[in-house]
Amino acid sequence: MQNQLFIDGRFVPAVKGGTIEVLSPHDGSLITHIAAAEAEDVDLAVAAAKRAFPAWAALSGAERGRLLLKLADKIEEHQEELAQLESLDTGHPLRDSRSLDVPRTAACFRYFGGMADKIEGAVIPVETGFLNYVQRKPIGVVGQIVPWNFPLMFTSWKMGPALAAGNTVVIKPSEITPLSTLRIAELMKEVGFPDGVVNVVPGYGHSAGQRLAEHEDVGKICFTGSTATGRRIVEASQGNLKRVQLELGGKGANIVFEDANLEAAVNGAAWAIFHNQGQACIAGSRLILHERIADEFLERFIGLARSIRLGSPLDADTEMGPLTSAQHRDRVLAYVDIARAQGGRVLSGGKVPSDPALAHGYYVEPTVVEAQPDHRVAQEEVFGPFVTVLRFSTDEEALAIANGTQYGLGSGLWTRDLQRAHRMAANIHAGMCWINCYKRVSPGSPFGGVGQSGYGREMGFEAIHDYTEARSVWVNV
Ligand code: NAD
Repeated sequence: MQNQLFIDGRFVPAVKGGTIEVLSPHDGSLITHIAAAEAEDVDLAVAAAKRAFPAWAALSGAERGRLLLKLADKIEEHQEELAQLESLDTGHPLRDSRSLDVPRTAACFRYFGGMADKIEGAVIPVETGFLNYVQRKPIGVVGQIVPWNFPLMFTSWKMGPALAAGNTVVIKPSEITPLSTLRIAELMKEVGFPDGVVNVVPGYGHSAGQRLAEHEDVGKICFTGSTATGRRIVEASQGNLKRVQLELGGKGANIVFEDANLEAAVNGAAWAIFHNQGQACIAGSRLILHERIADEFLERFIGLARSIRLGSPLDADTEMGPLTSAQHRDRVLAYVDIARAQGGRVLSGGKVPSDPALAHGYYVEPTVVEAQPDHRVAQEEVFGPFVTVLRFSTDEEALAIANGTQYGLGSGLWTRDLQRAHRMAANIHAGMCWINCYKRVSPGSPFGGVGQSGYGREMGFEAIHDYTEARSVWVNV
């Protein structure tokens, strides 16, 4: 298991020799110590990325793409090993790591590998006597800071488009879940990525993350994490006015209308909130139910929530694992008290499971709380297996509740009425809307938020645009 920093093509200890404990979310035991990057290490990584940039940018798109395609194949060859590592470090149930995290990571690198030689410019019609063409050029060194909830998948979301477009990368995984990113760096070396093109600097946000965000040789910072940290990133980036892309928090509205297919909606709503223990920015964490079907829906939904098998993430039968850290489990449980204090009703869960086999891990029962739209649990991101139920009687009311937070990332609607579905989708203030499904993602479809969920888009051509500069050339013909 790799536990050092990856700088300029080599695994090295941190300059000051600091380390961070990586703990198992299943029982709190020590998995390993990793080197803790600080400002000096980030400086070395940025310098390596800066040196590597001209040659990497000068490669043809097809050559860069070939390496990304080889990496995608390599990830698939190591599918089981990567799935085990991700589950060990994050607490994702192995069945999800195998069927979602690893295949999606490979698919995303493959998508951007295929796109690397298709980054086209344009010829713009201008006045007679002049030719104007636009080329898309890489930005330079990009800094990428990611959270702990989907560390493996985020390597591909972040690095795939950046590298395809010809940038070099310094990526800082979360100090809590660095292991799969370091393994991907090893695989990148194996398939032949040149030294310095990718550098991995796990470390704390206030030191390594802060330095990366403020570094004067970093041309763009792409951040995924909480809205509060996103604000700090914007401040830190001001010195050299670097480009900033922010993928921040969410409070996904998942609306079930009275004409919905209830069985599909119940299953979809459970997936929307309980997948990955609710630790997803796009989680359907507000379940907004039409008053006519609310009671029947809740009866079925709570039955389903109670039947979810909690257990060790490394057990192939487990449906829901632990939260990723003890601190985060305590934060989620605190929201149960906050809900009660404001008059919310805990309909199910709300505590740690009684199974003694799980007593040392960071587990929380699937939790269903009924509240009012202005309550804190209907406004703030809990980021756990905690869903807030709200009721409505008209479409207008549903829309007002859905749009009544600072966030705008994921959203969902369940209805058989086609006109209503399109009307609502057009008016929901969110970067993504799923109709009669939830949490679909694809490397080709833009992913990102509006409002305080951030700006910029991952995936697809949108991501390539976000990792390139448009250069306009005028020719007097
Ligand atoms: P966080 O903001 O605490 O940390 C995210 C990353 O930022 C970590 O690597 C951390 O070390 C680093 N960091 C912390 N302080 C920093 C600072 N001052 N300067 C630079 N870097 C710093 O978030 P988290 O708790 O790790 O992750 C959960 C959050 O991420 C949730 O709000 C969730 O919604 C959000 N998220 C958003 C998306 C999206 O695509 N919109 C996806 C996943 C998670």
